[in-house]
Formats: sequence, structure tokens, C-alpha cells
Amino acid sequence: MSAQRYVMKFGGTSVGSPEAIRRTASILKRWHQEGHEVVGVVSAMRGVTDQLIQAATSAAQGDAQAPTRLREAIWERHVSAIRELLGADGQPVLDFIAQELESFSNLCAAIAVLGEVTPRAMDLISSLGERFSAHMVAAVLRADGVSSAAVMADEVVITDDTFGAANPLLDVTTRRVQEKIVPLLRKRILPVVTGFLGATPEGYVTTLGRGGSDYTAAILGYALDADEVWIWTDVDGVLTADPRIVPDARTLPRISYTEAAEMAYFGARVLHPKTVQPAVMKGIPLRIVNTFNPDAPGTLIVEEPVVEDHTVKAVTMIPRVALVTVEGRGMLGVPGVAARVFETVAREGVSVLMISQSSSEQSICFLVEEAAGDRVVRALEQTFERELAQQHIDRIWAEKDVVIIAAVGAGMRHTPGVAARLFGALGERRINVLSIAQGGSEYNLSLVVAEQDAHEAVRAIHAAFELGRRPQEQRE
Ligand code: ADP
Ligand code: ASP
Ligand code: MG
Repeated sequence: MSAQRYVMKFGGTSVGSPEAIRRTASILKRWHQEGHEVVGVVSAMRGVTDQLIQAATSAAQGDAQAPTRLREAIWERHVSAIRELLGADGQPVLDFIAQELESFSNLCAAIAVLGEVTPRAMDLISSLGERFSAHMVAAVLRADGVSSAAVMADEVVITDDTFGAANPLLDVTTRRVQEKIVPLLRKRILPVVTGFLGATPEGYVTTLGRGGSDYTAAILGYALDADEVWIWTDVDGVLTADPRIVPDARTLPRISYTEAAEMAYFGARVLHPKTVQPAVMKGIPLRIVNTFNPDAPGTLIVEEPVVEDHTVKAVTMIPRVALVTVEGRGMLGVPGVAARVFETVAREGVSVLMISQSSSEQSICFLVEEAAGDRVVRALEQTFERELAQQHIDRIWAEKDVVIIAAVGAGMRHTPGVAARLFGALGERRINVLSIAQGGSEYNLSLVVAEQDAHEAVRAIHAAFELGRRPQEQRE
């Protein structure tokens, strides 16, 4: 095979322990030594991002102890990994981490004084873990004889200022990547780039959203015109369902960009939902592979839809959502109510995950993430103050403890009876469906059930379409 250009991203578990870091480094080394151009992208050690966010949140709530305690835990975890992997050679990495943690403490102290953490400060803090792991992995590669350099993505991934869910500015990013990363590749140096973070053109650190290191890899793939982007994780690829919920879930050998995007959007955490976008723009194949089973073929994500006899390919789930309902007999036939509802939600900066409407036109229902539920209800009560007073609208409320479940697959739209089979399976198990998506994509069928029924519902649909029973090889 001629020399290829690969971006290879390693998630939190793949850098979560000294043993995992060794595996990660050896995979990078192997492809580099085979003569390919390899760019590594790494996440924070599993759990570290949560700890950083928790520290900043606690500081804002006036808990001075928590940041200190969490800093200690983060420090210990890295020290023990670095000592084990690098011995005395690890000192420069330790010095770097110590210095960053010093600024972290100062920031937390400032947050405690203010009693508030701004999205900008949160991004600065929550992205520290990626900086630590990029330095660790690059140092481990060097100790193993591979020229490698850690690259902080705030120098290359340039984004808008939507802190917490920033969007890349692909042109500027491409220029920066050409300036900073391509020269390293020319010198046969293996860059290890921090996932998850970027910076505005002014230099303020941003993050791409939770799980955003996958997105970083695809952005870099775009900017580098990579031949392929590989997402190394802790499962064998994209599976027919989350294996933690469905033990007999199977790896899908090949799915389309659209199917992958739908699955990711509807909760398959294995891929950040935006990852597909930059890949599609340049037709770059994505591969999901297992760091802990590197010889398994994984899942290949490519352009063409792979329509097979199976109608539903996978079942996914978005936990922790709220079902918001605007209800009132007086809404019947009043134009513009829906528009005002969704304008209000948009003004709150909340995204609508799914919309449904009862056929009687007496209610509008939609799903938002649970944390935003109460805020959305308050905003809607303001918007419809008059209608509420006049009883054109009776009630606006949010139902918590619900989840969205989606059955995804390109073949679904050509196959009658999918819905009947799906709802039949839920009915047999006496699972109550609270809401069904209207319209939506032709590649999925989504519905809402109570949280306590969620896992059972996923398993019921998975079983009804026999997704786990036949080996995938026969289904291709
Ligand atoms: P990483 O840290 O490598 O980015 P994540 O934890 O973000 O890994 O994503 C991998 C996890 O996604 C798996 O361990 C699995 O539990 C979960 N997951 C959810 N749905 C799916 C699915 N359909 N296929 C594969 N994994 C899934
Ligand atoms: N470390 C970040 C997170 O936990 C990004 C990632 O892992 O992709 O969300
Ligand atoms: Mg992830």
C-alpha cells in the first residue's frame, strides 16, 4: 500500500491507564513506521474532564474544598501514569502539568470569588485534561524512539466563540494546520494533537462539546486532506446498540455517513454527532476501531447507503431529556402558535431534539435536554402570558425522566410494516410510548418512553428486528 495520511484519534479509555497509553502509543508507532503520515489526536484520561467541570462548578457554588480535592486526584492519576511509563524522563511532562494545575487553582479561586463560572472560563478549565494527555503520549512515543511532538489545538483549530459547543472556521483552521502540522509530517515527526479544544481567532480557548475529540479528528482530517480518519475507542466499532444495554449487540461492518450521523445524533456515544460533517465535505472515510482489539476490522463509514434486507440497522437512545407540552383547546386553528413556541426556545439558546404534535392540534410537544426543561417552560409562560390568562392555552409543562429512542437504518423508508413491528414489540412488553416523532428523517423512527422503560425498550426493538442474532458477515 502506498503511503497514506491518517488522522488517528484515541478516546478517554484509550489513554485512561498506563497500559492503555502503551497500546495507543504502539498503534501510532506501528502505522508511522510503516511509512504513513500519522497525526494523533487524544482525549483526556477517562473521567478527568468530568472532574475538571465538577471543580469549576463547585467553586462557583462556593465549595472551596472540592477544587483542591479534585486537583489532587487529577495530579495523582497523571503522576502515577507518568512515573510508570516514563520514569525520570517524565519530569518535563510533570512540570508542565504542575504549572497548568497551578493556573487551574488560581482560576477556581477567582470563580469562587465571583460565584459564577462563565462559559469561557469553563472551556479553559474543562480542556486541560487533553493538554496533559497529548504531552504524555508524545513523551511516551519519544521514549520509544519515535520523533513526536505535542500540539495544543488552540494553535490550529480555530473556531467561533460559541463556548461549550464551538464551530470550526475551516478555512483559517486549514491554513493553521498547513503551517503548524504539515511541516512536522514533512520532517517525519508524529504530531499528537489535543482533542476537544480550539480557540477563537482572538485566542480564547473554546471546546467543541462533550465527546468533541472525535470532531477534532475529522476537522484535522479535512484540513490535512487525510486519506482516512480513524476513531480508536473501547468497542469494536459502531454496534447495533450500546453494548452496555444490549449484550448481544453486533458490530456493523459498514454504514453510510447519514446513518452514522443519525445514530450519533440520537445518542450513540461512540461518535460525536458533528464528526461526520467535515468528513462528508471531502469524502474522507471514517473508521471506528478498538484500541483493545486492534486487529478487529471495525466499522467503515462511507458515502453510499448500504441498504440491505434489514430495515432497522441499529437502536439508539438519548437519555435525560424533557418532554415539553404546550396544551390548550383555544390553540385550535390559531396560526403562528408553533412559530412563537420555537422562536422562544431558540431565543433561550436551547436546541429542540425532536418535535411531535398530537393530531388534534390541541397540543405541541417537543423534546429538549432535561437541564433546559424548566427554563424553556418559564420562557414559554412569558411568551404566552396573554393566551394563558385568556385560557387559549391551558398549560405549559415539562415531563422529566424520559428518553428518546431511535431506530435507525437507510432501508426503513422502503419497507412497510417497520413501525407496526416496532410498536408491536413495545406493546408486548407493556411499554408505554409517550410520544412519536412526526416527520423527521426517513432514516429513523423515534419515540419517547419513560426512563425506567428505556433499556427494556431498546432491547425489545433490538430483538424484534433480530439485530443481534445473525452474524453481521451474513447480513452484508
Ligand atoms: P471514547 O472515550 O473512546 O471517545 P466513548 O465512551 O465516547 O469512547 O464512546 C464509546 C462508547 O460508546 C462505548 O463504550 C459504548 O458504551 C457507547 N456506545 C453507545 N452506543 C453505541 C453503539 N451503537 N455502538 C458502539 N458503542 C456505543
Ligand atoms: N474529554 C472530552 C470529554 O470528556 C472530549 C472527549 O473525550 O472527546 O467530553
Ligand atoms: Mg467519545
